Amino acid sequence: MQVYGYGAQEEAGKLNLVVFNREKPNETEIEFKITHCGVCHSDVHSVDNDWGGGSYPCVPGHEVVGEVTSVGSKVKNFKKGDRIGVGCMIDSCRECEKCEDDLENYCQGPLGPTLTYGGAPMSDKIRTYGGYSTHLVVPEDFAIQVPDSLPSEYVGPILCAGITVYSPMKHWGLEKGKVLGVSGIGGLGHMAIKLGKALDAEVIAFTRSEDKVDQISEMGADRVVVTSDEDAMKDVRGKIDLMIDTIPVPHGLDERLPLMKPDSAMVIVGNLEKIPEFKSGPMVFNRISISGSLIGGIKETQEVIDLCAKYEIKPSIKSIKIGDINDTFDELRNGKSSNYRHVIDMDSLHSLGSDKLDGADSIADPVRHE
Ligand code: NDP
Ligand code: ZN
Repeated sequence: MQVYGYGAQEEAGKLNLVVFNREKPNETEIEFKITHCGVCHSDVHSVDNDWGGGSYPCVPGHEVVGEVTSVGSKVKNFKKGDRIGVGCMIDSCRECEKCEDDLENYCQGPLGPTLTYGGAPMSDKIRTYGGYSTHLVVPEDFAIQVPDSLPSEYVGPILCAGITVYSPMKHWGLEKGKVLGVSGIGGLGHMAIKLGKALDAEVIAFTRSEDKVDQISEMGADRVVVTSDEDAMKDVRGKIDLMIDTIPVPHGLDERLPLMKPDSAMVIVGNLEKIPEFKSGPMVFNRISISGSLIGGIKETQEVIDLCAKYEIKPSIKSIKIGDINDTFDELRNGKSSNYRHVIDMDSLHSLGSDKLDGADSIADPVRHE
């Protein structure tokens, strides 16, 4: 099937219109037309090769929602016309201990989980293109069912931003009576506030951006601390049970470790590069765990989307057209945005006329299977 998308053909390149072929779905797979796709900061890191090992062309997009156009003969739970969601993975080895444990995100198979876009490290066996495109094909086991009450434009940000902050909340036992800290209030951070409140925790948001304070309070944060305000930072010392740190750049921990309670956990989800030197004293004296977390398994992703439907949790979004994508990337690179999640309305791609489509760059086809 011929598919149009928006991709970067070189490191840090601008995204432009590309065309490629996707394989037809096999008997256990689903093909769907993409209606919306969230823009995650990881999409920018991937295009810019901030983490190394970048794979180009890069057609990003892992907060994908759409409408099923065809299903393989063995697909049980989806039919043509159903809504469907896809997050950061479209496959895994399905055999290792982690996959058996519904933690496909930590798949220990030789290629790790098959990400929705990008390549497997050190292998040309997998090269996938994501949701900044007209259509996607996914194995049923990696498809998420979309509850009727959730409008499609709100679904995507739950499938990456939402699950990425929800999974550590479950892992570290966040519940009523506990205090959640959230560092960096963007796509992930704002979902952490909403989900933390849904789990009945007290939520303290940490932001550099004074102009965002009112909006962050309206999202439900019990307290908003502007990190440059030293008195406010002192006031919350030793109060946090679980800190989810979504800051997308390398940064030290000295400022935040003293905020943690004994036996608390600081979970780093944003910075995948280096942690600059930090004083380990506060960590040792208070038995603080410093941990990381990567998205979440498929079962847990279904759980968080059902929870969002149940509690009517909606991400705070700004709808954009596909042609706005390079400006949106610049906004995220700049780090000053008060739009919490951008979501591409894919009608803007589906409705391009032949005058535009004829100019699309033809790129190598994706490779989904080993
Ligand atoms: P956003 O850009 O939407 O939000 C990041 C927030 O961090 C900003 O809104 C800002 O909040 C703060 N921030 C931005 N730049 C800086 C800076 N230079 N120094 C300090 N704070 C800064 O990003 P996302 O929420 O989409 O993603 C956050 C990170 O999480 C990214 O690195 C992304 O790749 C990663 N990620 C990790 C996943 C995982 O599984 N571990 C999954 C998905 C994403 P404020 O203005 O409030 O300070
Ligand atoms: Zn993401």
